[in-house]
This record gives sequence, C-alpha cells and structure tokens, in this order.
Amino acid sequence: MNNVLDHKCPNCNAVLKYDPHLEKWKCEYCRGEFTLNELDIIKKENNIEYSKKGNSENYGYICKNCGAQIIASENTSSTSCVYCKNTAIIMDKLTGEFNPDYVIPFKTKKVDAINAFKKFCKGKILMPKEFNNKKNIDEITGIYIPFWLYNFDADGIIEADCKRITTFRSGNYMYTKTDTYLATRGGSMTFNYVPVDGSKRFSNDIMNSIEPFDYSNLKEFNYSYLSGFLSEKYDVDKITASKDAIARAKNSFIDEMSKDIVGFNTVVPINNSINLSDKGSFYVLLPVWILNIKYKDKIYTFAMNGETGKLIGNIPIDKKKAVIIFALVFALTFIFLLIISYLR
Ligand SMILES: [Zn+2]
Ligand SMILES: [Zn+2]
Repeated sequence: MNNVLDHKCPNCNAVLKYDPHLEKWKCEYCRGEFTLNELDIIKKENNIEYSKKGNSENYGYICKNCGAQIIASENTSSTSCVYCKNTAIIMDKLTGEFNPDYVIPFKTKKVDAINAFKKFCKGKILMPKEFNNKKNIDEITGIYIPFWLYNFDADGIIEADCKRITTFRSGNYMYTKTDTYLATRGGSMTFNYVPVDGSKRFSNDIMNSIEPFDYSNLKEFNYSYLSGFLSEKYDVDKITASKDAIARAKNSFIDEMSKDIVGFNTVVPINNSINLSDKGSFYVLLPVWILNIKYKDKIYTFAMNGETGKLIGNIPIDKKKAVIIFALVFALTFIFLLIISYLR
C-alpha cells in the first residue's frame, strides 16, 4: 500500500499541501482546505483504505557521502543533499520501515524562515557578499528530524559533601572556619519526554540552541504532515540513544536533589544510587528549517525551530573585507590622533 492517497484533493485529485499557518491541508488548484478529520471522513465515505503506518516503500534519497536517508513527498525533489551539499544523489524509492509514533507539525512557512535568515545576515559587515545570495536562500528546506523521547520514573538517594565557611575577627587576626558535613537526600521524580537526537548528522549544539519544542503539540504520526517537507530516517537506534537519555535524567535527578540542600557555601554531590524505570519511548519527528551553505569547502549551518521560530546560525568572515576594514579603522584612528595632537 502506498501513501499517495494521503495527499490527494477530494475535489480535484491534485496534490494537497500542509499549510502550517492554517494547520490544514490546502489544494492550490481548487483552493479547497481540509482538516485531517475531514479528509479521514471523506476517505471512509469513499471506502478508501490506507495505512498511516507500516509503509515500507518511500520516495527519497540516500546520500552516498554522509549517509543521510531522506524521505521526500512525491511533489518535492532535491538536487543536492540537504546536509553535505553533495550533488551525487538520486531520487528513488527507499525501502525499509519508517514508522514514527508522533510528529510536531510545522507552524512556520518557508517565507518565515527566509525572512528570519535575511534578518540574521543583516548588519554582518564581514559576511562575504555572495553568502546570502538568492540561490543560497532558496535552498532553505523544511525537514523533520528524527528524535527519541523517553519517559522515566526515578527514585534514589544522593550524598553530597557540603561546606559552611565562616570568618570572624579575634583581636588582630581574621579567622576562617570551615565546617564539613555529609548530606543525604532521597526522593522520586518523573521524567517526561527526555529527547535524544536520532540523526548522526544533526548536531547536538544546534539542537540545544533551537530547543525547546512544545511536546504538548505532538500529533499522532500521519504521512499527510510530511507533504512539502523532507524527513530524515533515524540512524541512531532506540537502545543507543537511550544511554544519553538515562545520563540526562540521572544528572537532572542529582541536580534537583542537590538544590534541596541549602544553607551551605558549597554542595558537591559525591555518591548516588538512582533507579530508573522505563515508562515508554517514542519515535518522533520534529520540524526544523535548515540551510547548509558550502563556502570555500566548509559547510555553514543555519537552523530554525519550525514550531517556535527560534534560530541559530554561523556565517563565514570575508578575509579581504576584514583586512580592508581593519586598515580603514587603523587609518581613521591615526588621523584622529594626529588632529588631536595638532590641536593641543
Ligand atoms: Zn483541489
Ligand atoms: Zn549528504
């Protein structure tokens, strides 16, 4: 069974596109607008069955250079890899299962991402002129990044080395007194949706900079949300990713318990015994606008949270421009000082 039926307009059979602002599916030909519910009802009425899950055939590409497995809807095509800009990619059928549990749909459009990028570049005088040309800007792409979310119940105890420092004067001398205590705290905590990146290429630094996502907006996965966007298949599996989630949860547990120990100058956790029980994990897709620009053999990344619009980016410095500006500033300062000394 294919996913083609998911995106067809019930009126005119044209391809439907998800509109992030309307949060509806729109037909560009007959201007019809549909909610997911309406589409489901129409499909049921017409006895069209389709599987939301379990597709083993998708359209997209596998990048031979960086290994990215990118799924595209049939109306989206790519000429180069969204991550590494390698142009030797072939759009074709991809096999292997692709069954996310949930998705946070895009709330922003390409035009929002373009405007944000332009604003980001504004006033960066050392940026090379050709960096934000139209050709590069047009390559801003909406992509769903694979993530694992973990739920845990935690209980345990921590031991912390605590110091209280007091200073006092006696006669002509100042004294410093350090009291050392061993404090113990225990308790239980619940962790919901501890996120771990399921993509080897999407850098954690970038993710940390554009977080948070609002997990109350998670929707049950449906192929229809992917229309007009790319989606990446995970290549960090659930077990491997869980190690990061466990470490993150344990660290937060220790932090929270330490915060509870008050009245000391320093509190250093030295021991802990924490039990985490697995309360479920989910494979989800998170919306990100991404623009990777190759400039002088280096990749510069601009990324924007597709839900909130929070963004991060790095841009190259034009060395020639930098030298000219430095020389100008130097010359102006020199002239300025010359005038001052002349006026004295
Ligand atoms: Zn239509
Ligand atoms: Zn690639």
